[in-house]
Amino acid sequence: MRTITIVGASLAGLYAAQALRAQGFDGEVVVVGDELRRPYDRPPLSKDFLAGKIEADVLNLESADDDLGAGWLLGSPAVALCPGTREVVLAGGARVRSDAVVIATGARARALPGNLAGVHVLRTIDDAVALRSELLPGARLVVIGAGFIGGEVAATAKALGLDVTVVEAMAAPLAGPLGAEMGAVVSGLHEAHGVTLRCGVGVRGLVGSERVEGVELADGTLLPADVVVVGIGAVPNIEWLADSGIALGNGIECDHQGRTSIPGIIAVGDCAAWHDPRLGRSHRVEHWTGAMERPAIAVAALLGGDGWSEGRQVGIPYFWSDQYDVRIQFAGHAAEADSVTIEEGTVESHNLLAVYRRGDVPVGVLSMNQARLFGRWRRQLNAAVPV
Ligand code: FAD
Repeated sequence: MRTITIVGASLAGLYAAQALRAQGFDGEVVVVGDELRRPYDRPPLSKDFLAGKIEADVLNLESADDDLGAGWLLGSPAVALCPGTREVVLAGGARVRSDAVVIATGARARALPGNLAGVHVLRTIDDAVALRSELLPGARLVVIGAGFIGGEVAATAKALGLDVTVVEAMAAPLAGPLGAEMGAVVSGLHEAHGVTLRCGVGVRGLVGSERVEGVELADGTLLPADVVVVGIGAVPNIEWLADSGIALGNGIECDHQGRTSIPGIIAVGDCAAWHDPRLGRSHRVEHWTGAMERPAIAVAALLGGDGWSEGRQVGIPYFWSDQYDVRIQFAGHAAEADSVTIEEGTVESHNLLAVYRRGDVPVGVLSMNQARLFGRWRRQLNAAVPV
């Protein structure tokens, strides 16, 4: 193999390039990215960067001693992948010849129809810059969706002095990833900080002519708004692969080491749905740690080895989210559980460790400001994953 092309110049793409070099690949590495920026870190975009505590220069993911010897084609989206030749076709028609391809095109924020001023999504630095310029003290912010991004934006905006309302169609914030019972604890966290929560109700539409003036709920309530953030999930960037012959579902279908259905092509990060042996099906993970850890496994598989050798085993899904003064951490699969028990701390203090079990078997663990205990549980759960 002489040339390996990585499509997507963010967290998973950068870690794939690093893994290629660390695992001895000395051919040409080409990184194609549609953003003009070199890889940067997204988690602070809803936290310290949005709060104005840090600027874009500290988000850079590359370190000074990263010497990847890669060619960077930035500002040039890939529009197609030819499965036979493995050529990557760029917008404008240029073709990048490749012996193998790493797909790391991530996901984009799901938007609502229309283009009213004052309505934001949050995925890129540009999104965050636009949003933070409107987070002015006293302004009325409505956040649609109480997932990770919505919850973090609400917390940041509250600290900046905005009047914040969060609308969530499910019964509680984070009810999908944490389950309804622990989602209710997150409800309490928002309410304790003076954020108004409207759960169990959908959004009928946005109101306004040029600029947003409010959000109309399915029950007819009109929530006045100066600024709206739409945090209703992310969509994998896979449309450009429609004619590639690669198996696609909710993401790029991969085996348990990131191999796609076409030899010589792997997929990593938020765009990839790896087979999860524990679940017995493919599962797309949209979290930082997966996008950082999995490229080394997939690259080992691409270079002809066993991706799981040398201790490189896929961890159970893990994420963290910082909301107010609480670090929420979760590892495992809440949907597998039939019970949740608080093993340490209390709901009222928002300081707790909860274990999710199926029968007697732990399948997930949640921490609110219980990082050390959480670390122990996460290691135990990881040790239980079948290889
Ligand atoms: P991405 O970071 O989405 O990068 C994909 C790159 O590919 C992008 O630059 C994209 O523009 C580019 N691309 C797309 N299509 C093409 C194409 N056709 N051609 C070329 N390039 C293309 N996770 C946590 O665990 N904890 C957190 O607290 C947390 N906070 C977050 C806060 C925010 C605001 C956001 C947006 C995400 C957060 N995440 C968090 C999730 C984490 O950032 C992602 O899981 C991670 O960025 C995924 O990395 P990735 O490289 O797979 O995809």
